[in-house]
Amino acid sequence: MSFCVKCGKDCEESLDGLCIDCWLDGRKLTSLPHHVDLKVCTNCGEFEFGDRWLRRDIVVAVQDAAANAVSVIRDADLVSQSTFAEEQDPYVFAVTVRSTCSVMGYEAEDEASTIVRIKNTVCRRCSRQLGSYYESILQIRTGSGKLSPEEREETLAMVENSVARQAQTNRQLFITKMEIVTGGVDVYLSSMSLGKSLTRELGDAFCADTKESPKLVGQTADGQDMYRITYLVRLPEYHVGDVVVFQGHHCKLVRVSSGGGRVIDLGDFRERAVRRADMTEIKLYEKASDLKEATVVSRSGSEIQVLHPDNYSTVDLRVPEGAEIGDSVRVVSIDDALYYVP
Ligand SMILES: [Zn+2]
Ligand SMILES: [Zn+2]
Repeated sequence: MSFCVKCGKDCEESLDGLCIDCWLDGRKLTSLPHHVDLKVCTNCGEFEFGDRWLRRDIVVAVQDAAANAVSVIRDADLVSQSTFAEEQDPYVFAVTVRSTCSVMGYEAEDEASTIVRIKNTVCRRCSRQLGSYYESILQIRTGSGKLSPEEREETLAMVENSVARQAQTNRQLFITKMEIVTGGVDVYLSSMSLGKSLTRELGDAFCADTKESPKLVGQTADGQDMYRITYLVRLPEYHVGDVVVFQGHHCKLVRVSSGGGRVIDLGDFRERAVRRADMTEIKLYEKASDLKEATVVSRSGSEIQVLHPDNYSTVDLRVPEGAEIGDSVRVVSIDDALYYVP
């Protein structure tokens, strides 16, 4: 037990010889600088906090900027804060921060005020984006020579979704521009790693061939070589549903995935797995959309009779066990013979 040197009261604990009440009397626990500058990017509207840029409502940003600037004296610990902002003009806010602090196990409140000034600037990401900065180019092409509008839309949607997802944790990642060129589309990207991850993603999803070629574009200020990388993604000519040739067999392609594919042999209707590494051996024979329809005349066991779509002669076709046969079937002509396409 000790006593306060100022008021003489007995107290269990003392600071500088004073009881808590005498110690707190007239003492400032918190302080704020005269003003706090808060940077806002005029392009994306995000606010700078330390080394991060964050999307905030302006009043919340102003309050956070003031609260972050509060300093608390050594003997006190901050417990909680509440903040009140008053707009003086669109770029100037008067802000009061009320802080609850703990001192010697007691809670005490204090208030400090400042002026938060909004400063217009352009963040690094936006200045790069506005300056058409890029580190890699993703070239999307196809084995058939010309990327169809559907292929272009499908791959670009995948690229845009992936970039949006990755940009949530790394705001330096963005698409600089997309350019439709002869044979496909070029996507300019803000980083090499982004080009690499998109190439892997597209390669997996479409079983596409990929290639990367670095190009020396100059040197940095400290003499390091600076590269840009062009990533080429060549989509296969074939799609699910097409008739393809695989290892000498005419097959219907029924599945394409990152692990490989599956085909049904048109000769014996057996289904086979195709390893990812063997997918490049698959050659397009006839697109699904080009397959012809043949009218079914009759059915007997594992055979059906159809009218040949070119000359209307009656032709026998083998069909798989238990196949559901409607009024017409899809067929493909291989070496002058007609085959049923399941
Ligand atoms: Zn006292
Ligand atoms: Zn910005």
